[in-house]
Amino acid sequence: MSGLEKSIHIKTFGCQMNVFDSDRMESILVRQGYRKEADLAKADVLLINTCSIRDKSEHKVLSLLGQLKPLKEKYPHKVIGITGCVGQRMGRALLQRVAHLDLVMGPDGVERVGELVEEVVSRGRRVLETSFDNQKERSYSQPAVIDKVRPSEFLTVMKGCDHFCTYCIVPFVRGREKSRPIAELLDDVRRFVDRGTKEITFLGQNINTYGKRTGESLAELVLCTNEIQGVERIRYVTSHPRDLGMDLIRQFGQVEKLCPALHLPFQSGSNAVLKRMARLYTREEYLEKIAALRAARSDIALSTDVIVGFPGETDQDFEQSMDVIREVGFSGAFLFKYSPRPGTRAFEFGEEVPDSVKTERLAHLQEVCFGKIHEENKGLVGSTVSCLIEALDKKGRYYTGRTPHGKLVHVLNAGEACIGKILDVEVTEGNASNLKGYYVGAPRQDRTRDSEKAVSA
Ligand code: SF4
Repeated sequence: MSGLEKSIHIKTFGCQMNVFDSDRMESILVRQGYRKEADLAKADVLLINTCSIRDKSEHKVLSLLGQLKPLKEKYPHKVIGITGCVGQRMGRALLQRVAHLDLVMGPDGVERVGELVEEVVSRGRRVLETSFDNQKERSYSQPAVIDKVRPSEFLTVMKGCDHFCTYCIVPFVRGREKSRPIAELLDDVRRFVDRGTKEITFLGQNINTYGKRTGESLAELVLCTNEIQGVERIRYVTSHPRDLGMDLIRQFGQVEKLCPALHLPFQSGSNAVLKRMARLYTREEYLEKIAALRAARSDIALSTDVIVGFPGETDQDFEQSMDVIREVGFSGAFLFKYSPRPGTRAFEFGEEVPDSVKTERLAHLQEVCFGKIHEENKGLVGSTVSCLIEALDKKGRYYTGRTPHGKLVHVLNAGEACIGKILDVEVTEGNASNLKGYYVGAPRQDRTRDSEKAVSA
């Protein structure tokens, strides 16, 4: 049986890298003759692209798999597959545990998804693919099948990670670092720009060491991208404080299209905890990098990740994380309770911090951190910010976009035609998680979807 007339649905959990992988899988399967199906229950092939960074993410996947059992019993011809990090981590055990699962594959199987699905469809076999590819570098072109223009695109430039932070599952499920060649990435960027994209965010688990085995570098990639006509904004994520070198730091003051925003996770403000996490820097070194970034670009917006309740974290350790939050004044933050991941070193550490303590610490951290962000956002009221309009927000109310500093903006008088445009927006409201405002030069009339309908009715 060929893919012709059959439909696929890919459900994606986790990070932007997974979104990118899902686009690639979809692209491969569509080229093979599959039709995209928006309704998961109606698709002939259902792939769930998964994340295993936290325990909770895995539970969501397993719970969805449970819900799909009756569907598979009713329509046994349907193919159900798990791809991505949970597939890699659980592998054969997942196939054994879930009888209605046909395919389990890890992130390195993306390019082979077509043949793997075909093997299930045509031979009726259950398939497991969790081997890592051993090429020195990775090569593939960006997804060809995209429904609509995305003003802001993510582009995966490398995979894997050579660090082994003791809490992290990534090196086990995504393997060692492998970078894509710059020339190929620039071709991808040009294709995005030709379709109307204005902002590119390069993605890598430890992006600062992009190209280290191939003699290329992130600084070089940024410089070359800056030269491409039509690119208006460049960003990259995720940086590691030890690997963020002065060449990259200086670029924030030198490269025109590089946005003044950087995500730099510190994870803990305590040197003792950082050591147990094997983060390879101290709190002092982290703060030195922050000072260098601000010296290079005084208005740079910094965001971070913090883990609370890492094994053995004392009240004093936690206070040191609070100090860093207070001292730096981040513009954005992802704050998490430590989640033990089987297979990592920290899983064996013991000295588990009780969940009630983790919850209390997290709440305290959130209050201070998000309070500061709220103050910063309120301080922007009355100013004019530049905003690239990306889409209607999730609730379908406002057209939204981001400033070069990465602030999310709901533009109250923007309509569909504004998507892909960079507008000057006067900020009228600063909330904890977003700004609201009106774009300058247009009537100040709220154009939520409902009011648009009302106008056109
Ligand atoms: S650098 Fe990031 S991806 Fe790599 S092991 Fe540490 S936390 Fe995980």
